[in-house]
Amino acid sequence: MIMTKIYKYVMMGIVAISMSSCGNDWLDLDPSTSVPTNVTSKSEVDATLNGIYSTMQDPNAYSGRLVYYGDMTGDDMQAVSSTKRTASAYLYGFTKSNAPSSYWAYPYRIIQNCNVILTNIDKIEVADADKQTMNDYKGQTLAIRGMSLFDLTKLYGYPYTYDNGASLGASIVTDVVDKDYMPQRSTVAQCYEQIIKDLEASINLLGEKFNKGKINKWAALTLLSRVYLYHGDNEKALNAAKAAIEGAESHQYQLWTNAEYPTAWSNDVSEASTNKGEVLFEIINLTTDSPGKESLGYLYSPNGYYDGCVTKSFYNFLKKDKDDVRLKIINVATKAQGYSSSVYGRGYVNKYQPQQGEGVGDANIPVIRLSEAYLNAAEAAAKLTAAGNDHNAEAVKYLGAIVSRANPAKSVDASSTVTVDQVLDERRKELVGEGHRMFDLLRNGKKVVRVEESNSTLSKTKHTCGKDFMTIGEGEENFYKIVLPLPLAERNVSHLQNNPGYGE
Ligand code: CA
Repeated sequence: MIMTKIYKYVMMGIVAISMSSCGNDWLDLDPSTSVPTNVTSKSEVDATLNGIYSTMQDPNAYSGRLVYYGDMTGDDMQAVSSTKRTASAYLYGFTKSNAPSSYWAYPYRIIQNCNVILTNIDKIEVADADKQTMNDYKGQTLAIRGMSLFDLTKLYGYPYTYDNGASLGASIVTDVVDKDYMPQRSTVAQCYEQIIKDLEASINLLGEKFNKGKINKWAALTLLSRVYLYHGDNEKALNAAKAAIEGAESHQYQLWTNAEYPTAWSNDVSEASTNKGEVLFEIINLTTDSPGKESLGYLYSPNGYYDGCVTKSFYNFLKKDKDDVRLKIINVATKAQGYSSSVYGRGYVNKYQPQQGEGVGDANIPVIRLSEAYLNAAEAAAKLTAAGNDHNAEAVKYLGAIVSRANPAKSVDASSTVTVDQVLDERRKELVGEGHRMFDLLRNGKKVVRVEESNSTLSKTKHTCGKDFMTIGEGEENFYKIVLPLPLAERNVSHLQNNPGYGE
């Protein structure tokens, strides 16, 4: 039994590694590296789940691309130059022939392994004492499957709010399928139905306690509130976000304070910590288990690949309040600090801070934070209020917590009506560098508008995307580029329809 467990775990590891080098499509796997198609015990479920988190840790997944894509395609961050790793996303440079397979393959690799667990877990008999753990495993698996399909739907499908989900999204796969399986694309609406079903089911199963590097109930509820916002379910979004906040705060989580904020990103929180901070789900990277130089920590650091930086327009926007604590996590590299001319004159997001004794590439990746739950609640409340259903007191409360934390001298006036734009502006400042911006704009029917402003501190920062990509969105010629083209390898094998505008 022990041999089986180790064998399968090792096989998972091989799959995770081989994916980065061969760029294959989701099911075109060498038989020798096939994942197990069955799990028959609690320990096998545990090992398979660990393998899934290991795939999520890859720089092609949540230690890198799946996060930075939403930043680089927006207006608040940019690639340092057109030859940088993040430039393809910044330049909207993907075409039908160079469409990357990783954005498609990694989430599906994760989903396939989730399906291995989900199609078998209810058949596994365990002692009463283990039932709660098995429920938690199932809850984590459902949450991860929902999250992966959500990311695929965001990357490949138009925003739900654009056409009520009528256009094509990703493929919904809920069974363990072999390499001959022919996926079909579902509509965005069908994808959201499945995402919400998985996340709602996960909530009733997940553990409530801190679980290092794993998804718990409060993380899943925050993600669910985000999904509801994308889906236009504002009442549900508000309720889910409030439940996440209340639950997390009754389990020792709390918003970082103004004093903690600049360095809390490097905290190595443990089960014994009485203050769990505000990271509800993070990818754990270690020196001994590191995503390496392609990781966000390395890509966003002036001491690493200095690949992505903030735009001048974002920096100017944030600097309107010189006492905003979030200015302290914009790492402005200067000549006086000894940086070379290709590095200085730019501002780098310093949210991926290595834990004690680690290199920058080993920084953990906070994927879901309590601050987002506050902003989700505020956005939903503001939208409900604008629609005539008064939730302004909640909008004031949740937005106010983020505003006052950033600068204790500031507050949200309880006698004012909080607008959606006010919340989105705060969201922009709070979540920069965490992969949200382009999606936040588009799901709210706005365009990405890049502006070349001046700022003497960021003397080297300049847009290189050309005028055709200074404004991106509905009504622009480039609108088709807000979704990725499907990878050629996938289209060759399964004849999936490409997204419009890219050509077949
Ligand atoms: Ca780390």
